[in-house]
Amino acid sequence: MTSPLIQQYGVAILGAGPVGLAAAAHMLARGIRPTVFDAAESVGSSMLAVAHVPLFSPWRYNIDHAARSLLERGGWPAPDLDALPTAGELHQLYLQPLGRALREQIQLNSRVLAVSRLGMDKIKTAGRDQAPFLLQIERDGGVSEHLAGAVLDATGTWAMPNPLGANGLPATGETAHAVRIRYGIPDVLGKDRARYAGKCVLVVGAGHSAAQALLALADLGQQDERTRVHWAVRGNNLRRVFGGGEADQLQARGELGQRLQRLIEQGRLTVHTEFRIASMQAGLTGLTVRAHTPQGLTELTGVDEVICATGSRPDLALTRELRVRLDAWLESTEALAPLIDPNEHSCGTVRPHGHRELAHPEPGFYVVGAKSYGRAPTFLMATGYEQVRSVAAALAGDLAAADDVRLDLPETGVCSAGLPGTAGQDACCVAMPAAARVASTCCGGAAPVSIDACCAQDAAAKQTGKAGCGCGVPADKAGRAVTGCC
Ligand SMILES: Cc1cc2nc3c(=O)[nH]c(=O)nc-3n(C[C@H](O)[C@H](O)[C@H](O)COP(=O)(O)OP(=O)(O)OC[C@H]3O[C@@H](n4cnc5c(N)ncnc54)[C@H](O)[C@@H]3O)c2cc1C
Repeated sequence: MTSPLIQQYGVAILGAGPVGLAAAAHMLARGIRPTVFDAAESVGSSMLAVAHVPLFSPWRYNIDHAARSLLERGGWPAPDLDALPTAGELHQLYLQPLGRALREQIQLNSRVLAVSRLGMDKIKTAGRDQAPFLLQIERDGGVSEHLAGAVLDATGTWAMPNPLGANGLPATGETAHAVRIRYGIPDVLGKDRARYAGKCVLVVGAGHSAAQALLALADLGQQDERTRVHWAVRGNNLRRVFGGGEADQLQARGELGQRLQRLIEQGRLTVHTEFRIASMQAGLTGLTVRAHTPQGLTELTGVDEVICATGSRPDLALTRELRVRLDAWLESTEALAPLIDPNEHSCGTVRPHGHRELAHPEPGFYVVGAKSYGRAPTFLMATGYEQVRSVAAALAGDLAAADDVRLDLPETGVCSAGLPGTAGQDACCVAMPAAARVASTCCGGAAPVSIDACCAQDAAAKQTGKAGCGCGVPADKAGRAVTGCC
């Protein structure tokens, strides 16, 4: 049974990305009325912004089950599930048709400015769970209000890129030189080609986005040999960027890192590790970028263009009037943090989680999709689809289905590959079916006490109050309860 509030006002979904749209499909399948608001003029605007980027997960992981049922009722031809789409193909062949199937539920060009509860601010408690949510929506230059019985925030993090500054703040001069900086993944071999061909380009960041940009620039360098490529990262270990290689269950993701490694070996890009950017200023030719390095303050001169691929962060202002519980440093939903903290885990794999982990002190409010991971970089669409399936079931009052969370995610291979110099210390999970995980044994020996062992046996042991398979402590360095990440 859905709550009277939901029956009266329906559910508001913020964001029409892959996860927001899937949430709407699950709501409809449960007989709940969703209204989806998106600031952009099209659904799936984040994917559209990187349309040229090849995704590393094949179609089978990118299509939500409820969305697929909805689409197939309208005669939608499913793509080859083993093929790898680009982000643009995902948009064109899946998100757009899904948006059309859901058109009566979606309001585009509608930016949600803020969410609160009708007649109460954050402090007031009495009667809170009987008050509908109130959304302020900016549309056509005006602001209107919308009431909802529950709210799912699926606004992602794409619109708030992290800055270049190593300390998380914009580097000195970053704003002044914004014209030379692109955040995200420009289309180096396509529409942005003229901007980068023959230039000295600095790519900053240590994730898949940086890797994609570097590979494209290297290809450009073969076509225009004047192109020079620098790659700056804050850390000193590139193993995570190189990924699990052949051990990665997503072949394309594994190959990305391997190709990058080959480029470095061939001397086709210059790598600057432990390069902590502090400032930038105009030099005689191009920009001079200054960074703190183990050798002291170091300068990189003659930089024409900077590509900042340092990740992104959630917009927390949106829900400031709600009682939201976030992890203090990841800004993810708090219960997810021990599963995804990149300080603790090398593998980008999470154990199944659903409405309980995603709940906040604010009843009826959930953060789902990429935003639920906050600043953690390892989110996959398939994770979001299972999140919204569970939340929709919970809102429909079907707790058995809501609690039966299953997540079949491809392993990165990073955790079983082991980092150079830390053999046996890194995570010890290997690819195995979810059902087999509990019975599995850890590989690679004991993890140090400060690191979660990243396997189901470890998690199961800790849940029964034991030390786990090698970790020795039931909490991570921060004292947060750790339940394992496989
Ligand atoms: C380059 C790149 C490659 C990726 N490759 C893969 C991959 O291969 N496989 C995989 O599983 N995952 C991949 N991901 C990760 C992830 O699955 C995607 O980022 C995905 O788009 C996240 O979906 P989402 O619905 O949570 O958020 P988004 O897709 O970011 O959608 C958020 C939506 O909210 C809207 N919005 C934002 N603020 C507001 C507001 N205030 N009011 C109204 N609307 C708002 C935006 O316009 C947007 O449409 C990739 C990510 C990137 C960036």
